Amino acid sequence: MQRRPGFPARLDLPAGPAGRAASPFSPVGSRTVVAAPLGLGLDSAAVRSRMVQKLAQGGIGSSGVLDAMSAVERHRFVDSALVNQAYEDTSLPIGLGQTISKPSVVARMAELLLGARCAQPQGLGRVLEIGTGCGYQAAVLGQIAREVYTLERLRGLHDKARDNLRPLRLANVHLLFGDGMLGYAQGAPYSAIISAAGGHAVPAAWCDQLAMGGRLVAPMALSGGQQALLVIDKTEQGLKQTVLEPVHFVPLKSGVG
Ligand code: SAH
Repeated sequence: MQRRPGFPARLDLPAGPAGRAASPFSPVGSRTVVAAPLGLGLDSAAVRSRMVQKLAQGGIGSSGVLDAMSAVERHRFVDSALVNQAYEDTSLPIGLGQTISKPSVVARMAELLLGARCAQPQGLGRVLEIGTGCGYQAAVLGQIAREVYTLERLRGLHDKARDNLRPLRLANVHLLFGDGMLGYAQGAPYSAIISAAGGHAVPAAWCDQLAMGGRLVAPMALSGGQQALLVIDKTEQGLKQTVLEPVHFVPLKSGVG
């Protein structure tokens, strides 16, 4: 397994789960910080809390989402060369031509999911994610949902996500290898479905597998070719669609690779 550096990197100590408390996301404060990236003089918790502050200033109002974003250490999901950029609001390459989404987009989509009519004050029930990538968003969703099923079509990324998530021991995040366009019927119905890849149409399986009162959030190509976030609510009266702001996601592809 590839060893992930701490944040900032301390090269003589593995940043493994050793010594962690009951919470899978106990702060890194007990680890010695020897050098700070970009001369910031901050450890990972401090940099993350600044990121969360910016998310709140940018309009994220859900404390559940803000807590989730501050709990998950994004720097553990990116390559060591990119660790210094882990808390900037930017998407980053994760290999095989794919990217980890910007924190503001992850937070925005999570907040939209929590707007599902069937969401409870304590969060969501079962959630399906299409496009595991490096596993970051799945870990965030794991903080606001009882169970997360996440599908990845590229074996290399599925394996990478497994390596990234293993030390966090998130028993409620289930990694699946397969074509997300088919959804995952075994876990249905879902309170929420989220896609991290943009297609040209919403696969029928996603709507079928959504619970009544459930919400789907996905990037989708509009007729002009531009991508926008699409929200679909499943109601007694049928599916209600809302098109939101423009976004830029990697393409949703069928089959596995
Ligand atoms: N949520 C991810 C973002 C990954 S980018 C993260 O936090 O890192 C989107 C991912 O969707 C890519 O890994 C891509 O391989 C995957 N993807 C695209 N089409 C897919 C499909 N049909 N089924 C499953 N995964 C798919």
